[in-house]
Amino acid sequence: MTSLEIIEESENRIVVKLKGIPLQYANALRRICLSGVPTFAVDDVVMIENSSVLADEGVSHRLAMLPLRTDLSRFVEPSACDCHSELGCSRCRVLLMLDSGNSDTTRTITSQDLSSEDETVKPVNPNIPIVALAPGQKIKLEAYARLGRGSEHAKWNSATVSVLTQGSNADEHILTVETVGNLTPSEVVKNAVSELEKRLGEFQQTIAALG
Ligand SMILES: [Zn+2]
Repeated sequence: MTSLEIIEESENRIVVKLKGIPLQYANALRRICLSGVPTFAVDDVVMIENSSVLADEGVSHRLAMLPLRTDLSRFVEPSACDCHSELGCSRCRVLLMLDSGNSDTTRTITSQDLSSEDETVKPVNPNIPIVALAPGQKIKLEAYARLGRGSEHAKWNSATVSVLTQGSNADEHILTVETVGNLTPSEVVKNAVSELEKRLGEFQQTIAALG
């Protein structure tokens, strides 16, 4: 008899008891929670104007590392999208625009200055600094976000913490998952379970095809 029981849950952390699940599967689930559930991250930046002291690559890197709220029910990974377009479509990418405008004072442009074309996909935290502008400096850009996985690049990691410990009984393991809010911890665990089931199903089909 296998079971998954939530024993603790908060906004950023979940603790789940896995019962009767072989260690190698529990461990695979831990790894998928960390880097195998798709999340949104900025993947391409078109710089229109940048007169700040931070180089274009520096700005792009900061944008890439911004955690973005991710709704997995409405979007698909580009590789799985029907559009088969390199530019993407409204199901597989989201445009976020940044335009500082002009100012004669010193200011810091933060994540809340990004305007997303899709209200559901936006920075989890509005107060992350992106670039400082001196009087007269400007920045204007288009940032394209898409779903990806942490196994490809750390910017798409689905959890900040995913650890497995031994439970009180021999057939029990405790999985602890923490996120920054791009996905809730329970969304991560739920999607990781489906992903593991999918991978095991594909593996069984491969074995069956060999036989
Ligand atoms: Zn598409």
